[in-house]
Parts: sequence; C-alpha cells; structure tokens
Amino acid sequence: MSDSSSADHDASNFIRDMIAADIEKGKTSRVVTRFPPEPNGYLHIGHAKSICLNFGVARDFGGYCNLRFDDTNPEKESVEYVNAIRRDVEWLGFEWHSNPFASDYFDQLFDFALALIKQGDAYVDSQSADEIRATRGTLKDPGANGPYRNRSVDENLQMFKDMKAGKYTDGEHVLRAKIDMLSGNINMRDPIIYRIRHVNHHNTGDKWCIYPLYDFTHGLSDAIEGVTHSLCTLEFEDHRPLYDWILDKLADVIPARPEQTEFARLQLEYSLTSKRKLNQLVVDGHVDSWDDPRMLTISGMRRRGFTPESIVTFCSMIGVTKKDSHIEMGVLENALREDLNRRAERRMAVINPLKVVIENYPEGQEEMVTGANHPQNPDYGTREIPFSREIYIEQDDFMEDAPKKFFRLSVGREVRLRFAYYITCKKVIKNEDGSIERLICTYDPESRGGKSADGRKVKGTIHWVSARHAVDARVNLYERLFNTTNPGGETDFVSAINPESLIVAEKAKLEPAVNPVDNKLAYQFERLGYFISDSESSEEQPVFNRTMTLRDSWAKANKA
Ligand code: ATP
Ligand code: MG
Repeated sequence: MSDSSSADHDASNFIRDMIAADIEKGKTSRVVTRFPPEPNGYLHIGHAKSICLNFGVARDFGGYCNLRFDDTNPEKESVEYVNAIRRDVEWLGFEWHSNPFASDYFDQLFDFALALIKQGDAYVDSQSADEIRATRGTLKDPGANGPYRNRSVDENLQMFKDMKAGKYTDGEHVLRAKIDMLSGNINMRDPIIYRIRHVNHHNTGDKWCIYPLYDFTHGLSDAIEGVTHSLCTLEFEDHRPLYDWILDKLADVIPARPEQTEFARLQLEYSLTSKRKLNQLVVDGHVDSWDDPRMLTISGMRRRGFTPESIVTFCSMIGVTKKDSHIEMGVLENALREDLNRRAERRMAVINPLKVVIENYPEGQEEMVTGANHPQNPDYGTREIPFSREIYIEQDDFMEDAPKKFFRLSVGREVRLRFAYYITCKKVIKNEDGSIERLICTYDPESRGGKSADGRKVKGTIHWVSARHAVDARVNLYERLFNTTNPGGETDFVSAINPESLIVAEKAKLEPAVNPVDNKLAYQFERLGYFISDSESSEEQPVFNRTMTLRDSWAKANKA
C-alpha cells in the first residue's frame, strides 16, 4: 500500500481513545478485533468503513484482527460470497490473523447452550412462530410468559439434544434464553437462541439441523477468539444487554470477556449500503452483476478503477462517530481523484471521434512526438506518440458557429494539438444528412512541440489520436446509479435509478501506448477523466471504464 493508508494512523476517534485508555488502565494487554461479515453477499463501501476501523486499530495498537464469517443463516450463504469477501479484504490491503467461520464453533456453541440449560437460563419452547410473536409484546406492551417456560432442566436437556439429533421438523421447537418477558428491551424477552433448520450449510454440510442465532453466536465467537473490542454498528446498541447477559451467564466457561462498542454506519449519498438491496439490483437485472462498476461494492469499485488507497483514505477522512449522518458522494470521489491525479499515467484517447485531415501534411508521412506520462512527475518518463496526416479529435472540440470564447476548433480558428502542432480549421465536409463528416485543416510545421516560431499564441489545446495508429475501443461512461441522495430511504429505490448511469461510447480511439488489459491503475485520458481497462477487455476488443471525471460536474448539472 502507498503511504496514503497511514493517514489512518493518526485519525483519532472515540474508539481509539477508548482502546488507548483500556491499555493505559491495564485492562487490555493485546488488542484483538474482528471483522464479522455474513457471507450472504458482496462487501460494499459501508463494510470498508468497518474493515478500516477493525483492522486499522488492531494494527496501530500492535494487536490483530480476525476475519470471521458470521455464517448462521445457511439458506442465504455461499462459498461464492466467502471467496469474494476474502478477496476484497485482501485487496483493501489488510491481513487477517485468522479466518474462522462462526460455524467452526458450532460444537462449542452447542455446549454453551447446554450449560445455559443446566443453569436454568434457557428452555425449549414448543410454541409456533406465530404464538411466540403474539406473546412477545410490542415496544409499548410487555410480553407474557409462555406455557413451556418452566420445563424442567432435564426435559429441556433431552429435548435440545433431540432437536440436534434431528427428531423434530423445522419450527417444531426453539431454544430460548430465559431472561425477562417484561423487559423494556424486546431483545431481552426470552430471545430465541437456536432453531431447527434441516438445510445444508456451506461449511458444515449436513452435520447440523439446528442453528444458533446471531446474538447467541456473535458474543460467544468473540469470546472464543479472545476478541477484546467487538466493534459493531449502532443498530446493535439495543442488543448489547443481551450480548452482556450471555457472556455474564457463561463467565465461568468462556475463555475471555469481550466488550461491544457501537459506531455509526456509513451512509453515502446516492447509494445503497445494504446487501439485501444490492442483491435485488443484481437479481432484478438493474445492474449486470455484483461487480457492475456502478455498484459501490468493493468488487464493483475495483472494476471501476477505484484504488484501495483512495477507499482507505476516504474511510479515514469520514472518521468514526456515534452519530448517524449521510456523507456526500463528493468526498469519496475526491479522495479517488486526488489519488489518481497523483499516480495515474497520462494518455490520449478520443471518445466521440471526429476525423481531421491535415491537408498540408504530406500523405504517407508520419512522425513521433514526445508526450510526458505525468505533467508533475518526471519520474514517470515519456512516451512516443505517432502523428500523421489524419487524426481524430473530440466532436465537442469543434463548433460551427462558435461563440467568441470558444477556444477550441472552428472554421478559421487555430488550436494546439497536445504535444504536436498548431492546426487551423479550413473547411467542414458534411454528409448528405447534414452531419459533419470530417474537417479539413492545415498545420504549422514550425510549431512542433506546441510552440510557434513567431511567438503567436493560441488559447486552446486539444487532445487527438492519429487515425492510422488508433486502437478502437468501447468506453463505458458511468454516472451515479441513483438520482436521489437517499435511495435507501425511498419506498421504491428502483424508481430512483438514474437512467443515464451508463452511456456506452462504441467508437472510441486510443493512442497505441494504452495497454488494453489488466491495468493495475487507471490512466488519465487527458481532459476526459480517469479510465481503466474493464475485466472483460482484451487485445482484440479493448473495453475501458470511466473511473471518474476530472471534476465534479454532477453538482452543477443537477442544481440547474
Ligand atoms: P448489510 O445490511 O449490508 O447486509 P450487515 O451489517 O448485515 O450489512 P454484515 O455482513 O453483518 O452486514 O456486516 C459485517 C460488519 O460490517 C458488521 O460489523 C457491520 O456492522 C459492518 N457494516 C455493515 N454495513 C456497514 C456500514 N454501512 N457502515 C459501517 N459498517 C458496516
Ligand atoms: Mg448482518
């Protein structure tokens, strides 16, 4: 990783302060954290915040972080997601200490459940799901004890073992923690901790037909791993009493006593940070895949050309707080722009080509001009760019009835071709339908390298590609996927999809020094933005994705 990741080092926040205090007090000797995704989808930008926090504090305090798969819902989880998550965490530049599955702990969790039953702290409930719901109460009304709450320990033990042995069907019984049906906190009203599910699990296969629930699994997995600081998002604040209750009840048998601390989820304007909703976009075909470059999944961002460094910097910039808020998309985009501006090699490409014939340039002649690969950084070196009689320029760089302040090409006007010559437009050749077919220009042979011999100045410099040497490419021009700032807050986020989130330029022309495949970093196509070869790009059929425009034109265009 580049030095940008170290920005995270000094970013102070309330969690870092808390950990520093715990170390100071001698409460924590070695910091252990975990990042606990459920493998039921691909990671998104919200997860990056949690990854940077968990791995970042562990690293900075000399401890370690586990990547733990919280896999207690076998119906929704898969090995595809497991592999994608590992790849994404690695790509972001983090190394885990170990990579367990919560399902690796199923035997121990079963024993912990037996211990609770023996203590009289858990019971088998045989009510139906509807009955359980009905006696649970609401935020206003207390719950009520059910008829099975006072089963004997022996009966509970036997029934729970029979649940495990497969003697019952799905939903016939559940195991519940025996806490308090009158509690003001619904999570404490005898929460279900095990349920029967006769389904195959991606990790444990058919070994189990009972599965522990999240709240039971999570804290105990933390304890098994010796996690000191279990950092999670604010929606789990109401679950903390349950987290504590379980660990306190099992204090004598667990190897360590972790503590949960909550922080605000990342919510980013114009985007969704919910795997369920992202999944719907994929399944319903609103995007091509989880790694569609418009998706703010880590894999989509990678394909789009985001750098891991820019994502880590972004996470450091937004900080970690207890208060929910929406972050402006521009913050993420600018973190990327700054990183790419500093590191991307420059090339020339024409997205919407217009042919220019330079009539006084000898037919059959060609030459090389020299272009800097980075205007501010000579270490990037230079490249040779072929120039010849026929070139392409951007359609936008020509205007027939141009206003005075249009400093690009128009009949009678002169511009500089980047790294090459001055050209002057003489004539417009049109197709039968009135569209422009090509421009006829002349060049000034004395202006090679972009300076005229007589000191004559031109205001505009435009990019170009030699027609004979150009490489044809398809370019995907991406915009934000949603038109509204908070699509996740809309009842129908599908209607907030930006119909112009993808515009394909089929006939783009690239200078030959653009490598069409496997770019490690996006290029800056001069004057256009940052672009990276798509994962499906090939030598025969180059495809580039626009990673980001050079400037934020969105705010302007959408406030008009
Ligand atoms: P989703 O709703 O997208 O499925 P989740 O919280 O259910 O999100 P998990 O796989 O359980 O997804 O998340 C793993 C970790 O990432 C959790 O600790 C969770 O709190 C954290 N996380 C998920 N989304 C965000 C977010 N938007 N901002 C910060 N942390 C997040
Ligand atoms: Mg979850």
